[in-house]
Amino acid sequence: MEMKDKIREKFKTLYGTEGEVFASAGRVNLIGEHTDYNGGYVFPGAIDKGIMAEIKLNGTQKVKAFSLDYDEYVEFGLNEEDKPQQQWARYIFGVCRETIKRGGKVEGFNTVFAGDVPLGAGLSSSAALESTFAFAINELNGNKIDKFELAKIGQSTEHNYCGVNCGIMDQFASIFGQKGKLILLNCKTLEYKYYPFDPKGYKLVLIDSCVKHELASSAYNKRRQSCENAAKAIKANHPEVEYLSDAKRVWLEEVRGKISSEDFLRAEYVIGEVQRVLDVCDALERGDYEIVGEMMYQTHFGLSKLYEVSCEELDFLNDLARKCGVTGSRVMGGGFGGCTINLVKEDLYDGFLEAVKEQFPAKFGHEYKVYDVVISDGSRRVE
Ligand code: ADP
Ligand code: MG
Repeated sequence: MEMKDKIREKFKTLYGTEGEVFASAGRVNLIGEHTDYNGGYVFPGAIDKGIMAEIKLNGTQKVKAFSLDYDEYVEFGLNEEDKPQQQWARYIFGVCRETIKRGGKVEGFNTVFAGDVPLGAGLSSSAALESTFAFAINELNGNKIDKFELAKIGQSTEHNYCGVNCGIMDQFASIFGQKGKLILLNCKTLEYKYYPFDPKGYKLVLIDSCVKHELASSAYNKRRQSCENAAKAIKANHPEVEYLSDAKRVWLEEVRGKISSEDFLRAEYVIGEVQRVLDVCDALERGDYEIVGEMMYQTHFGLSKLYEVSCEELDFLNDLARKCGVTGSRVMGGGFGGCTINLVKEDLYDGFLEAVKEQFPAKFGHEYKVYDVVISDGSRRVE
């Protein structure tokens, strides 16, 4: 049975009525990694995996929510002290609270929801969940909160109710995504532009290394510090540099002796990445996916050798992709684990996956996962 039918069936059984159905997507980021906090670009798109929810206002001040995937029912009120225990319910509660904080009306509602974004794999299932409810609550209560503010409602939910200090990209992509399009987002100005991404004859496939490194968050803070150090040194010569992404490569060269060699390498990666994103924009306008792929490999090299946020498993998957003739491959997300994103010609796809199957578990002694993704629509009402 399809996800939507399962949701409808459960909703009818639980609440005896019918509601309206909404959905939002998980996301990938084609290129533009560790650029967000440096005021640079990211280049995400919504994917064909997401969260779907049936919802109906219930005329009370209570939310009644059923998670099909956890097979769990939770009820909560809409005041700050009503924060539920279950993690999944906190996302919904947070979205209600953040809507109220922005002056939106939130009436109690009944809901049943489910999803097919793998949890914690770097495809942002949490953003899909937040966006679904932010969008639906806005529609059903007749609030006229704009889409950007809906994304911020999701982001604030992560900050204030889930303890995750994330940027805006995930919620932005989940809400603004469009089929066959990636979105260039300027993290400094929040300006954005859609680019065609419809690689005929290619597939996008993620290989999840199933590795999670404990070090990730302290390493992340260190990388941020390095970037700030480099930006500060460059700013002394070029006051217009607010963020590292504003700097030119030659300006970094000028401060080579003034910053640590480690900070230099980190900055070299970031400045290179900003340029690669722009090169990908040009390539997409021409439909040149071979150049897109080459930039992805360059990004991986930078993340691995300059920014040093890769790991053995991810480097192995990247090498293997190259050996199998995959057009583009790189680690996606913060690093130290998670997935590689691969752009692969359809006729090489089976061979690539066969090679991963033969070699990855044998070398690392554990499984991996494969997710095919297609760039698809973001938040929407499902007819
Ligand atoms: P991700 O990288 O996928 O966003 P997170 O840890 O940020 O990983 O978010 C995962 C959490 O989001 C889950 O622990 C759960 O609370 C919630 N969530 C995601 N998808 C679902 C779902 N289908 N049903 C219920 N809760 C979900
Ligand atoms: Mg998340």
